[in-house]
Amino acid sequence: MSETLLRNADVILTMDDARRELARADVLIRDGVIVDLGSGLSTTGAVVEARGCVVTPGLVNTHHHLFQTLTRAVRGGQDALLFGWLQTLYPIWARFGPEEMQVSALTGLAELALSGCSLTSDHLYVFPNGARLEYTLAAAAEIGLRFHPTRGSMSIGESQGGLPPDALTEADGAILEDCIRVIDAFHDPSEGSMCRVGLAPCSPFSVSRELMRDTALLARDKGVMLHTHLAENDEDIAYSQAQFGCRPGQYAEDLGWTGGDVWHAHCVKLDAAEIGLFARSGTGVAHCPCSNCRLGSGIAPVRAMRDAGVRVGLGVDGSASNDVGNLAAEARQALLLQRVARGADAMSAREALEIATRGGADVLGRPDCGRLMPGARADIAIWDVSGIESAGSWDPAALLLAGPMRVRDLLVEGRQVVAGGQIATLDLPRVIARQTALARALAG
Ligand SMILES: [Zn+2]
Repeated sequence: MSETLLRNADVILTMDDARRELARADVLIRDGVIVDLGSGLSTTGAVVEARGCVVTPGLVNTHHHLFQTLTRAVRGGQDALLFGWLQTLYPIWARFGPEEMQVSALTGLAELALSGCSLTSDHLYVFPNGARLEYTLAAAAEIGLRFHPTRGSMSIGESQGGLPPDALTEADGAILEDCIRVIDAFHDPSEGSMCRVGLAPCSPFSVSRELMRDTALLARDKGVMLHTHLAENDEDIAYSQAQFGCRPGQYAEDLGWTGGDVWHAHCVKLDAAEIGLFARSGTGVAHCPCSNCRLGSGIAPVRAMRDAGVRVGLGVDGSASNDVGNLAAEARQALLLQRVARGADAMSAREALEIATRGGADVLGRPDCGRLMPGARADIAIWDVSGIESAGSWDPAALLLAGPMRVRDLLVEGRQVVAGGQIATLDLPRVIARQTALARALAG
């Protein structure tokens, strides 16, 4: 049995069912699970002092393409809209292989961890030159983050009216075969799981209708979740109407892509009827405000979604369209963007933090994560509010208005992944050096 006591936090934002905030409080962790919260708790195990800190659940990232950390701020893609941006990057991604996949994932995961993220999904949809999903799994295991990788796919290349070059696409049969392989090898459905695999055709404009349908059937047969990009911008809506004769919500519903086991990235352009469909069916949304701003896609109707009862989480999206993978900054951006659209009372700092923690966990089907309560997994972010960013704050718990964007400590399953502001599980300078060398080689 291993026990850790997190002691004397200034305030704990539990995100439990009552959204309790506990002042001068402790958290007791046993074997990776929270067993008690309150004042005056004791242990014979390890102690982590949290005086001067705000404690929250670890943040949950519901949309990322970790491989893209190797193509940040690519010159030709810096100012392009979605489709032009993709066409700039596809030929670069086509030169990736196993090492690029693993090192880029380590980089992206370390950046997430430093910003308080304990659980992340990943959407990998290119598999050139022997790249496989397991290279990203190895990276997540090395750093110690809870990981929900998805096996992505592209099957409609340029020659068939799709967007990606044919060389980056795969045949439907080979895609489904590899989906079965990675689920059987790596998916762990148990409570407290550190790895759950999902299936994720890239987008309606890069896979066939048949592959969308067959992927949904396979996911349900295997009991895994489904993920894709949907309704990202005006071009995306126009493509759906021209190719499929309907809006994205209708397309998704017709092919089995709604339900509690489905979450869609972006959904910037969902209309009122589609928001109603998502609410009724329990379909989740990964809101990616920085990426939406960066690509000029628009402002997702998150206020309307939440009011209708749609499950919403946050995603930093890939690092070719953000280009930062800081989830705390993403949560701040989410609240600011809703205020741009709807006024200063559109979203509070506490609600944005809730979306970034409990909201994301619910989108990923993880009620055992994203909240601090007895029985929940010990995924915990510790924010030092004694620094310059918080100095003068009257409400340190309003972290996203005035507070640090990096954690002091991060626990995942009770284990310390970040300690004293540094990644505890990796030689980070070495990872950065490998990443920099790979990026330079790609840039030629
Ligand atoms: Zn994306």
